[in-house]
Amino acid sequence: MNRRIRRRIAIGIVLLLLVFGIATGLKVYEYAAGPTGEKDCAANPRFAGPPIAPSLRIVEPPIRLAQRGGTINDASCLNRTSIYGIAKPANEDELRKLVAFAQANGLKLSIAGARHSMGGQAFFTNALVINTGNLKQMSLNETSQVLTVQAGATWHDVLAYLHPRGFSVKVMQAIDLPTVGGSVSVNGHGVDHRAGSLASTVRSLRVMLSDGSVHQVSREQGPELFASVMGGYGLFGIVLDAQIDVVRDVMYQYEQQTIDYHQFPQLFTQKLSQDPYRLMYGHLSTAPGSFLKEMLIYSYRDAPGYQEPIPALKDSSQVALTRFFLNLAKTGGAGQDVKWFAEKRIMPLFRPCYVARSQALKAESCLVSRNQALYGSLGALKTNLPADTEILQEYFVPQDRFVPFIDGVRQVLEQHHAVVLNASVRVVHRGDVQLDYAKADMFSLVLFIDQKVTPEGDRQMTALTQALIDATAQQGGTFYLPYQLDYRSDQLQRAYPGVNAFFALKRKYDPSQLFTNEFYAAYGG
Ligand SMILES: Cc1cc2nc3c(=O)[nH]c(=O)nc-3n(C[C@H](O)[C@H](O)[C@H](O)COP(=O)(O)OP(=O)(O)OC[C@H]3O[C@@H](n4cnc5c(N)ncnc54)[C@H](O)[C@@H]3O)c2cc1C
Repeated sequence: MNRRIRRRIAIGIVLLLLVFGIATGLKVYEYAAGPTGEKDCAANPRFAGPPIAPSLRIVEPPIRLAQRGGTINDASCLNRTSIYGIAKPANEDELRKLVAFAQANGLKLSIAGARHSMGGQAFFTNALVINTGNLKQMSLNETSQVLTVQAGATWHDVLAYLHPRGFSVKVMQAIDLPTVGGSVSVNGHGVDHRAGSLASTVRSLRVMLSDGSVHQVSREQGPELFASVMGGYGLFGIVLDAQIDVVRDVMYQYEQQTIDYHQFPQLFTQKLSQDPYRLMYGHLSTAPGSFLKEMLIYSYRDAPGYQEPIPALKDSSQVALTRFFLNLAKTGGAGQDVKWFAEKRIMPLFRPCYVARSQALKAESCLVSRNQALYGSLGALKTNLPADTEILQEYFVPQDRFVPFIDGVRQVLEQHHAVVLNASVRVVHRGDVQLDYAKADMFSLVLFIDQKVTPEGDRQMTALTQALIDATAQQGGTFYLPYQLDYRSDQLQRAYPGVNAFFALKRKYDPSQLFTNEFYAAYGG
């Protein structure tokens, strides 16, 4: 081979490597990049209603609408729905005027917080949507350790308010983006495995009903309405504010360990459910070789010797990296392996640990404040790939059925070729709300699943969801309602035997059925 040919081959190889390098770089960027705005995928045929009657458009609302007509969507991006408009009231007076306006003009009202639900629970075709985003005030009674907070505040707002005052939230979701009103209305739960659901920390609520009257309700005063509004999906009235218990913010020792899922129930009962463990959750493997078998346990326990000031809250430094691994997992087997490896070995290096001076010599020490552990927007879960969306589902089972439940779920997921991006295990306790997902002390499995944004993707998700609900029911379990409306009515009735009584109460407190959403229209209307 002469020199000229060798040179050409060398140039060819360099060019190929360059193209490969650029293509890889672009892919990495695409997988790691965050969304540029709210994701708004194609309309779901289930919700595509007729356009608004023109006669309704000419009626002038009592406050300027933040959006006139147009559409709205939620965290699934799959539920684009045409609406009358969005109003963002600044105070209760404006809210009351909007309620009267809707009544007088035959409009339906829906209430939206941060729209992190995924099945149209926060809106309804052609309804006027109340966005609570301007109602965010709060005040703290340090002596009684009670926070009074308006419904539109997010947990992010609440933590930012409580942190400098030395307090923390007792129960919130695992992300801090939902509003207090939205969390009350689904009775959310998170990683405080000893506290259970939000209801256990709510002392009272103030609620505006469909006639504009305002009621303060609690377990002592108006207990029926209180138990209906908690986990009531915005069907009874507008939650104005809530009085919730708070706790002292303290430093915890963070730990991570790997176990086999068979070991989890015993480990939980004998160790993690006891002192000094304060926060806990698990992640089951999503890699093909150890799918739903290997399990990472994340725990936070008291760090009693800690004497120094609690550090300021820090934003997560791992958003782009986590998003990259999540998107990589959507490519299947090898991508799933890399994502699970990263979760075990790479992500721990980026934990927001604080090493106190007194602990500095202990290399393994990772101290995190309670607020810091809860302060996570999980921006990584929001991605920008146009062909995919990510769907959450959650199933609850009695604690002694955990192993057969996981075995059943694994079988269903494999049969349906589901691309599972995350599988978290949490703990919930029996509550005292009307529409309760926890019949007893239960473990829950939160699945984060990739869905293709196509009619076929929709059909596959519906079939998968119904099969997972049946597998859960075989173990005496239930499922969570803020997500897609893929379940059948009989499945809802089986999981929530009190659901008809719940809908009857809705009609008692809201006789004109002013408040509505796609969930009520599908199952209760
Ligand atoms: C990425 C992600 C992670 C999640 N993690 C968790 C978790 O860890 N634990 C958990 O329990 N859930 C979790 N969820 C579900 C979430 O808690 C619910 O969807 C919750 O409702 C979100 O609050 P929101 O402010 O977005 O409410 P929205 O979605 O806006 O509304 C939800 C319901 O609340 C009603 N509502 C909202 N505000 C009011 C009000 N002021 N008065 C009356 N009704 C109102 C709405 O009408 C609607 O029916 C998660 C969801 C996502 C997308």
